Amino acid sequence: MTDSAIPPRVLLGPGPSTVEPRVLAAMSRPLIGHLDPEFLRIMDDTQAMLRQVLCTDNRMTFAISGTGSAGMEASIVNLVEPGDRVVVVVGGVFGQRLAEQARRNGAEVITVEGEWGCIVDPDAVASAIAGGDTRVVAVVHAETSTGVLQPLDQIIAAAHAQDALVIVDAVTSVGGHPVQLDAWEVDVCYSGTQKCLSCPPGLAPISFNERALERIKERSTPVRSWYLDVGLLEGYWGQDRAYHHTAPISMAFALQEALRIVCEEGLEARYLRHRRHHLALVAGVEAMGLQMQVADPGHRLWSLNAIRVPEGVDEARVRRHLLMRYGIEIGGGLGPLAGQIWRIGLMGSSSTENNVLLVLGALEAALVEQDRPAPPGAGVAAAIAALNVTPEETSGDKSP
Ligand SMILES: *Cc1c(COP(=O)(O)O)cnc(C)c1O
Repeated sequence: MTDSAIPPRVLLGPGPSTVEPRVLAAMSRPLIGHLDPEFLRIMDDTQAMLRQVLCTDNRMTFAISGTGSAGMEASIVNLVEPGDRVVVVVGGVFGQRLAEQARRNGAEVITVEGEWGCIVDPDAVASAIAGGDTRVVAVVHAETSTGVLQPLDQIIAAAHAQDALVIVDAVTSVGGHPVQLDAWEVDVCYSGTQKCLSCPPGLAPISFNERALERIKERSTPVRSWYLDVGLLEGYWGQDRAYHHTAPISMAFALQEALRIVCEEGLEARYLRHRRHHLALVAGVEAMGLQMQVADPGHRLWSLNAIRVPEGVDEARVRRHLLMRYGIEIGGGLGPLAGQIWRIGLMGSSSTENNVLLVLGALEAALVEQDRPAPPGAGVAAAIAALNVTPEETSGDKSP
């Protein structure tokens, strides 16, 4: 298949997001070895930028070879020992995935569930944590399957009061919402390259604080995964720079370049840009007579917008229309929300004014195609008004 056989797409799904030409160009650089001094410099630079983006001084801040799920697996497999009591906050698919991984590692898993589209009640999580000798608490910060931003402060405080360590999934928040590992006292946090960092899928940024590394050293059983054993990975990413496995060189080039773009824009400006475009999209969606899945505006993700499919509208047909007619990818619902929501991602380089207006216009056309028209032009008009209320706050707000 040649390049020209792949049609251009506007990526507004739950990931991957738009990748800047600079990042793609970095991936096409000639290969060097994973122990080449030049490559070691790239690792140092990448680790320094990751610390900046995650707001941490953690020495073991690096990238797992694999997608976000590999970051999840690395967190669980290193922290959890068979028989450990692990409390998992489950508000959607990714919370379920965390629970499943903890179970597969022999943990006694206590899930605290919430309605999909609402936060999980922090009080309920705190009492679950206090209900036994809890060793680990795992929570998804940005639940991409529902569009919910889960508050963390009370959960982290409750965990630490019981001497439990906290794993935070920040796959869809890092680069789009503030994530501050040191200030929030997060013990382990992982993300992914393909969401708000706007890099292709393939690496999982991760960070372990000293308390977590200490706990791992005290394990009475070896970490079950050789590939993801942070003690072994420390040999490569730490001082020694000794071979463990061959780093995915081209992906490392890409992540370095993607992080440079994040740092050039500045974290604060980047968050404001995500917020601004989210608010404009919501204004447009509501003006079209559609409803957001997450009722409380304060609990909505800026990076992932879940929209209720109205009665009588064929969910998949709308997505197909957007893709085939306009080359726009959006996501459908997962699990219990399958067929009930659309998920529009405004992640990283995909979060632009142009994309907000484009997807609202295309959504209107897709509803017309099903004889379920929204008020003509209302979505785009409301989004324009919202964008004018929240003027451009950032020089990094580039058009696609
Ligand atoms: C996408 C995602 C993952 C998994 O990442 P992959 O890159 O698909 O492996 C994990 N957690 C959350 C919250 C996600 O959005």
